Amino acid sequence: MALEAIQINEKTIRIEDGFVRMFLLIGEKKALLIDSGVSGTDVKKFCETLTDLPVELLNTHGDKDHVGSNQFFSSFYLHEKDAIGCGLLNQFPKSHIFFVNDGQRIDLGGKSVEIIEIPGHTRGSVAVLDIDQRVLYSGDSVQDGHIYMFGQHREPELFAASLKKLQARISDFDAIYPSHGTAVLSNDYVQKVYDAWHKVLSKELVSKKLEIHGSMIRSYDDEDCGFYCE
Ligand SMILES: [Zn+2]
Repeated sequence: MALEAIQINEKTIRIEDGFVRMFLLIGEKKALLIDSGVSGTDVKKFCETLTDLPVELLNTHGDKDHVGSNQFFSSFYLHEKDAIGCGLLNQFPKSHIFFVNDGQRIDLGGKSVEIIEIPGHTRGSVAVLDIDQRVLYSGDSVQDGHIYMFGQHREPELFAASLKKLQARISDFDAIYPSHGTAVLSNDYVQKVYDAWHKVLSKELVSKKLEIHGSMIRSYDDEDCGFYCE
């Protein structure tokens, strides 16, 4: 499937790759690609048709549909826990991984992003705050589709704590750009996902059984979002 670029504004481009999306953030000195998609297309080359600046890559987490074209980058940013937990150190032995930490800022020239650790969906999940655009890139952790909470690396209690942590930061962003589902959500979606997840943990929501990727899972459906769990 061909990649599709959608210009959001002068400094932000959304790149659709089937059921997942990436974002290209453009500073004055360099551009930052958030995630590398699922199709395995040369997304670095694609980005070079969109900007003349050098393009660096950052992964919100290590799930397959977010690292599909990491091999085209000689280095990338990722949390250490997903580099190890999702096996990316072995998967991309030729690439250097810069481990990101909570509160770290990456300067793109005239524009900075902040890393916010939000473990739960995976142990090394991060959100990226675009400070001047007041946008939060939430990866899979805040979205209006079903959030995958089954399989390896999921941490249900940490996920609740991370949503609470994001809730404490909502004065810093107006919009959320998730990797799946509706492309733009308002900042109150953090609370909506938190409330729905709380209902799952406290067993207030009833689940139904579903087969997905060959595994039997429980699907929880709330008004605004849902979860696929063990
Ligand atoms: Zn995903």
